[in-house]
Amino acid sequence: MTFDTPLIPSANPRLSADHVRTAGTGIRLVGQTCKDCGKSLFPRTGVCPACQSVNLADSEMPDEGVLYSWSVVHVAPKPWTTPYVIGYVDLPNQVRVFSHIGGAPDSLRVDMPVRLEAVAAAHGETAGQPPFRFSPVQKGVL
Ligand SMILES: [Zn+2]
Repeated sequence: MTFDTPLIPSANPRLSADHVRTAGTGIRLVGQTCKDCGKSLFPRTGVCPACQSVNLADSEMPDEGVLYSWSVVHVAPKPWTTPYVIGYVDLPNQVRVFSHIGGAPDSLRVDMPVRLEAVAAAHGETAGQPPFRFSPVQKGVL
């Protein structure tokens, strides 16, 4: 049984393609930094939740973090394929991202290092949804 299926729903339907920036084979999440208090935000918003400033600038999020928690989804509407894994990743800039998680569920551990990666857009996926997930960092692979 594989848990690495390509046909999965977006982990966060509020996200759109402009929340992701790709360059070559790399991918980065684009959020914001509050110019008044310095708080990092993802996804983008209109007002800083810390200081209520609207003085926000786009900024790229770190591409590595640690796995905070996850869950295996076994039931989903058609045509999505189950099971798949969703979870929260804590980035070093204090941002927690809700995302699909790669790797076998029994190999996942709290606080394990994970890295952002692009995934191929699946047919049936709504255009504009960000094709990304976080997967465990493979030892010896940069
Ligand atoms: Zn702020």
